[in-house]
Amino acid sequence: MNTDNTTIMLTLRNDFHNTETRVRASRLRDNCYAVATRVWSRACGRLCGMGDCDCGSVRGPITDKTGRRYHAEQWDHESIVFEAA
Ligand SMILES: [Zn+2]
Repeated sequence: MNTDNTTIMLTLRNDFHNTETRVRASRLRDNCYAVATRVWSRACGRLCGMGDCDCGSVRGPITDKTGRRYHAEQWDHESIVFEAA
């Protein structure tokens, strides 16, 4: 199985702390990818990690390797969905 067709790496940024991290997202349909909430939470921890900070963890553009931008939305309790802007 060629996973390159079913997942992409998305870069998440925090322009308050000047941090960035990447997550691997699974393809749902064209231009739409998802990550598990726990993966998102870990990424947020890498971007900020301070429990009493209200920066919002992910702030700044979410992009794939081509620079295309994505919106992040809570999908359900288990996943976050990224849709191409
Ligand atoms: Zn913060």
